[in-house]
Amino acid sequence: MADKLKETMPSNDVNGTPKPSSPNADTAEQITMLWEYSPAPESSEHISISDKYHHFIGGEWVHPEKGRYMTTINPATENKLAEFAEGTSEDVKRAVKVARKAYEKSWSNLSGKERGKYIFRLARMIQEKARELAIIESMDGGKPIRESRDVDVPLAAAHFFYYAGWADKLGYAFPGRKADPLGVCGQIIPWNFPLLMLAWKIAPALATGNTVVLKPAETTPLTALKFAEICMDAGLPDGVVNIVTGAGQTGAAIVNHPDVDKIAFTGSTEIGKIIQKSIAGTGKKFTLELGGKGPLIIFEDAPIDQAVEGIINAIFFNQGHVCCAGSRLLVQEGISEKLIKKLKDRMETLIIGDPLDKNTDIGAINSRSQYERIMKYLETGKNEGAEMYQTSGSLPENGYFCRPTLFTGVSQSNRIVQEEIFGPVLTIQTFRTPDEAIEKANNTPYGLASGIWTDKGSKIFKTGQKIRSGVMWANTYNKFDPTAPFGGYKESGLGREGGLHGLYPYVNLTPV
Ligand code: NAP
Ligand code: MG
Repeated sequence: MADKLKETMPSNDVNGTPKPSSPNADTAEQITMLWEYSPAPESSEHISISDKYHHFIGGEWVHPEKGRYMTTINPATENKLAEFAEGTSEDVKRAVKVARKAYEKSWSNLSGKERGKYIFRLARMIQEKARELAIIESMDGGKPIRESRDVDVPLAAAHFFYYAGWADKLGYAFPGRKADPLGVCGQIIPWNFPLLMLAWKIAPALATGNTVVLKPAETTPLTALKFAEICMDAGLPDGVVNIVTGAGQTGAAIVNHPDVDKIAFTGSTEIGKIIQKSIAGTGKKFTLELGGKGPLIIFEDAPIDQAVEGIINAIFFNQGHVCCAGSRLLVQEGISEKLIKKLKDRMETLIIGDPLDKNTDIGAINSRSQYERIMKYLETGKNEGAEMYQTSGSLPENGYFCRPTLFTGVSQSNRIVQEEIFGPVLTIQTFRTPDEAIEKANNTPYGLASGIWTDKGSKIFKTGQKIRSGVMWANTYNKFDPTAPFGGYKESGLGREGGLHGLYPYVNLTPV
């Protein structure tokens, strides 16, 4: 099946060495010799995944009303990992009822100090189970173990620690105002950072005294279900956190439930718009963290090798499955040739393969449908007249893998420049003046994240002020911290998560 999908890819011999017809064969062969690593797979023997998961409602596992289950696979092998419950609106009703009861009877009556202790305990238990969570995240979603181990899981724990600290200090967060919880929060998350997005949602909600019904994405439900086990082990009062699994309809049932007070959604702009329409006029609070098409602006005075590393991190990190990925490179004309050459050389050294191997730089595309979507965009790019470059290293036989890809010869109106591909695909344009860079950077419907590389601090501030994006990194990219707010402009969303700002969407403020 995967073979058929990969017809468009350059081919390799059985050892994974590119065949001579491969466009970059010479360089690739030299590099293969230079970068031959022994496999270093992380063992998955000690992790425990059940064959079948039910919903986690009211502190216990609850069978789905209709008795239907879905399957989650490992996208790197296409093997089944587990079954999980398919939630109906009846299941959602049950979860919301339990969450309301927990809100009224226990959680909202606890002091901030007591809530903080529970959240702190959740953070510690994520740390204790870090290895297992990282391996399951990589197996279920396809991301390299280096990322789930060094980024996703530590940051998830850090978010719980951070918001545990706010729970008894809300009076300082909002001086002169009283912060009351909202009630029951419906939270819907995507597949690209499953545990981390769960942490971004659940930690501030609990810190402010709300209870939660959360739905993970259908391709990556496992770490949310492991988190349910952590909630049980932590002795969190029943019903404070409820996990209902399923597909889009399950999410829609949460959005449309009349007794949900707030919706926190991270996902595509398309679904974000549907959600905003459905809750218009209901009085529900909401935050939407949506898509992006981040520009990377490289000025002529930039430290070029540092910029190349930044670009690699911005777009090939996590297979480009990052909402804030830098997917549009804008490079000043004088250095474009040199930079592209260095970028291609660096790309050739990236190791694509088993997500559980500690050497792997680029893991599997999250699902077959996402793989097909990326392949369609590669065709679109070629049909739009752009020139495509792909690295020539080996790809595994099974699973969904995509080579890092560059498109040159693109224009601003091309679909591959305007639309979010959500894969390891970078378009390259040049500019002459800072104004031209700003104009091009702002010319998409999105405004989530951006990056600038230059030697001059003044240029960072002068250009940065004019870029419409929620986050801007300078001479680096994809750096996260729980204390920093994150969110978008334009079609990239509404509201902020993280930091002090991340408390606002979960409270009603009144003057004291
Ligand atoms: P998606 O299709 O919008 O799905 C996101 C979540 O919404 C999933 O749990 C999905 O369920 C659920 N869902 C689907 N239809 C729904 C509906 N009608 N009502 C309520 N929920 C519904 O997005 P995705 O493909 O999973 O994720 C990729 C997108 O997320 C990209 O566009 C990316 O930029 C964005 N993203 C943004 C941020 C940010 O912070 N701004 C962070 C991460 C990702 P199922 O998947 O189970 O069907
Ligand atoms: Mg999966």
